Amino acid sequence: MNICAFCGSSEDLDASYYHLASQCGEIIGKSGHNLIYGAGKIGLMGRLAQSTRDFGGKSIGIIPERLRIEGVASDMDNEQIITPDMKTRKDVMRNRSDAFLALPGGFGTMEELLEVITLKQLQYHNKAIVLLNGNGFFDEMLVFFERMYKENFANPSYRKLYQVESSPEKAIAAIENYRHEHIYDKYLKS
Ligand code: AMP
Repeated sequence: MNICAFCGSSEDLDASYYHLASQCGEIIGKSGHNLIYGAGKIGLMGRLAQSTRDFGGKSIGIIPERLRIEGVASDMDNEQIITPDMKTRKDVMRNRSDAFLALPGGFGTMEELLEVITLKQLQYHNKAIVLLNGNGFFDEMLVFFERMYKENFANPSYRKLYQVESSPEKAIAAIENYRHEHIYDKYLKS
């Protein structure tokens, strides 16, 4: 499978996060999957891609022209696609992928994650979305989501749009075992 990962680009994180990304890459590579990602050599992205390759998987980096900066962009990918802008880049990442995996990250990661959740809510795709909740990183966001359900900003059935897993093993297994289930449609009522 082509697994698209969203994850932090920071180099100033607790070591446990880099370990999590490396572990995740190991499982992706050993399981015969490929990684679709932002083509950054920095942060969790860099560790995840390196580890995927080390354990036999391919990394396919999708990067906009503007971010092709020495020391930031990966020069190790098995395949690299350069896009004119961020919007096209996300389209290519989505179209090339069979599933989405979010690791801890910052605004870039959150934006990518929320976009695929939103598009699934509108039935633009029906691929797995798994949050790898290492160190309980997403806990507060999930509490916030509960407020959206409670106050009817989101339909409670949208909890099924994504899965939350505590370890890389469970996250990749959730992707492999994912079966699409029809979820309440926000506007089409199908
Ligand atoms: P952030 O979570 O803000 O560190 O942003 C990381 C996410 O945004 C990754 O999943 C990437 O897809 C994208 N991104 C941010 N910075 C870069 C970069 N320098 N090179 C490639 N992708 C990036």
